[in-house]
Amino acid sequence: MTQLDGTLSELAKLRSGSEPIVSLYLDTRWSDEHQRERVRLFVQEKIRKTLGHYADGTPGKEGLERTLRKIQDFVSGLTGQVYEKEKSGLALFACESSGLWRTLFFARPFRPELCTDGFPHLTQLARLADDFEPAIVVAPSQAGADIFHVSLGDLALESHLRGFVPRQEEDQFNSGSGRPGQHYYERQSKDERHQEAFVQKNRKAAVQEVQAVFDHNPGCHLVLVGPSETVAAFERELPERLREQVIARIPRPRQWDNGDGVRADGVVAGAAEAVADHEKQKEQQVIDAVVGQSLRGGLAVMGPDDVVEALNQGRVHKLVLEEDFTLTGWRCDNCDAIGANAETQEVCPYCRGDLKVLQHLGEAMVTRALAEGAEVEIVAHANKLHSYRSVGAFLRQTAQTGLRGASQPWPSAPGASQS
Ligand SMILES: [Zn+2]
Repeated sequence: MTQLDGTLSELAKLRSGSEPIVSLYLDTRWSDEHQRERVRLFVQEKIRKTLGHYADGTPGKEGLERTLRKIQDFVSGLTGQVYEKEKSGLALFACESSGLWRTLFFARPFRPELCTDGFPHLTQLARLADDFEPAIVVAPSQAGADIFHVSLGDLALESHLRGFVPRQEEDQFNSGSGRPGQHYYERQSKDERHQEAFVQKNRKAAVQEVQAVFDHNPGCHLVLVGPSETVAAFERELPERLREQVIARIPRPRQWDNGDGVRADGVVAGAAEAVADHEKQKEQQVIDAVVGQSLRGGLAVMGPDDVVEALNQGRVHKLVLEEDFTLTGWRCDNCDAIGANAETQEVCPYCRGDLKVLQHLGEAMVTRALAEGAEVEIVAHANKLHSYRSVGAFLRQTAQTGLRGASQPWPSAPGASQS
């Protein structure tokens, strides 16, 4: 769960009229002058090509022209570094006649993309939300903890908790008395107990702080940083529900100790790596689970035909899509159903409405899933999923379990429940 969830489902519900929705993704890391020029030219060229697809007089073309001009002006400001210099990625969605103008900046770059379609293209945004899930990074110490909240590859919060730890005053016991050895030993252990009480108190305060950050950002991963003993002692104090969220325990990276800026970068990088490792393992598990469940006849389906049908019926709980999915399909103008076989289908099988070719069936599936409140898992190329034509889906519990209301059948066509 990330702060993007609301944005994704909101965007996913948008459909255009005659003027298409423009989706633009950019890599805005200005390493040098050439990169700025590349981005400017990319946008200019894509706009030229896009307009070339629409003959003069095509409904919506004038609005689209104005939208694209506005985008070009915006990108000029960006490449001229007028605004958002620090960010690495831009996602922009626009459509004049729908009153849509949404710019989102991130600390992570996107693969450059500009396209027009009947709905926003959200795969890259969904992938960002998925790959850079938020994490709370905690570096506990005797005095408390450094706590960071890293979200979407960016530092969202930083707090440093410092409690009091009495110093062990060893030196004064070395200046010999009657029975130095014994006296020293007793004093030291008393001193240690005294100190441990403070350390314990500080640890509890740090745990409370982490708990507060977690409750504010539910579902966050936890990454613990530091010497294994310190980390283990801290972890033991965590309540069970937080301990379950720990995905990595890593030694303190050296760059943490060099100045504040570098330190924050180090924290972000450390968290990103831990989350990426976790995500990679999770992807494998998700693929195994979706294939396994569908083979056993459980609540999962594989392949574009079955997945698209489940999406049309609003039954998808989680869509699992390979990043290199490239199939085309169709979309019904009338009831908004989507389908996988544009060649064999002449009219909509649900309502006999007119069909439009979908150049990007994958994008349509992602948008549909997000609009229905389903999760979206974009995975790297994996042979196991690839043999099912790169897509699978977990389904929602069916009515028999009572979770979706007693006897209401699935609507025979998408949108049927609204008519
Ligand atoms: Zn239809």
